Amino acid sequence: IKAYYAKLAPLPAETTDGVRVELMANIGTHMDVESALAYGCEGVGLFRSEFVFMGRQNIPTEEDQFKTYKEAVEKCNGNLCVIRTMDIGGDKPLAYLEIPKEENPFLGWRAIRISLQRRDLFMPQLKAILRAGVYGKAAIMLPMVINVAEIKQVKELIEQAKIELAHEEKAFSNNVQLGIMVETPAAAVMAPMLAKHVDFFSIGTNDLVQYTLAVDRVNHNVSYLYNHFNPAVLNLIQTTIKAARDNGIWAGMCGEMASDPYAAVILMAMGINELSMSAPSIPKVKDKIRSVTFTKAKATLDAIMKMEDGDAIKEYLYKSL
Ligand code: PEP
Ligand code: MG
Repeated sequence: IKAYYAKLAPLPAETTDGVRVELMANIGTHMDVESALAYGCEGVGLFRSEFVFMGRQNIPTEEDQFKTYKEAVEKCNGNLCVIRTMDIGGDKPLAYLEIPKEENPFLGWRAIRISLQRRDLFMPQLKAILRAGVYGKAAIMLPMVINVAEIKQVKELIEQAKIELAHEEKAFSNNVQLGIMVETPAAAVMAPMLAKHVDFFSIGTNDLVQYTLAVDRVNHNVSYLYNHFNPAVLNLIQTTIKAARDNGIWAGMCGEMASDPYAAVILMAMGINELSMSAPSIPKVKDKIRSVTFTKAKATLDAIMKMEDGDAIKEYLYKSL
């Protein structure tokens, strides 16, 4: 099995009738890039930058962050490296950031909401990513976006960051893509409008499933309801991918759903361009994609979108793919 997967690494994730999807890796540190490449990823679809902020006693400086992102971007060898701005809050606290005790942390002060209010944390990160972009192909991705206003604010801050960098005579890239995670129902529903303001979408199903179904992603008592094939979730995903295609931007997925081979086939049929996952999942997803025709994937998608129940959809997929 190991040898077979090694042989698979350099091959594209392509159906037998020639439709391709890009497989990328989710990473937590710049040191994960090399092992991810060995599994055959075509770049990094999610660098969870909060790990750069965690496990330390003070705010990482622009210089600290620049070194880390530069190394990740360089190691991607010209492939895209998507750096998500810090997703703190919810279940991820920080020693040096006082987050008041909240009744509903997952609905509270987290991610982009913190970044937009704490410029002392956010500006050094934006500047560090813009600088790292000089060394390859970098992208900025915003977590937990719910509206257009947040994107507009970030764009202004990016412009300000560039002015400051120019003034400080530090090299930076003007070709860093800006994208958002679609991980709230609001973002999925508003995807046709949000798409006009960004270069890409990446669907974060870990949170999208939680928020759509009102099912806590870490509560075992309700885990039986947590199903990425739930028709409500599938409808939001389809809306998002269609909005991306209609507006000429690319759509990917970096939630756990992307590492489910059966889901990968369905997402491909919906028109997704990229799937990002923990590197060890890449071979099994690629293997599945290389075993089907796009025609078959399309027919299967048509069939499940008429079904009423997530568990029945799952069963149907296991049987027919
Ligand atoms: C997600 O929500 O799907 C995601 C990829 O982000 P995280 O798991 O870090 O919240
Ligand atoms: Mg998330």
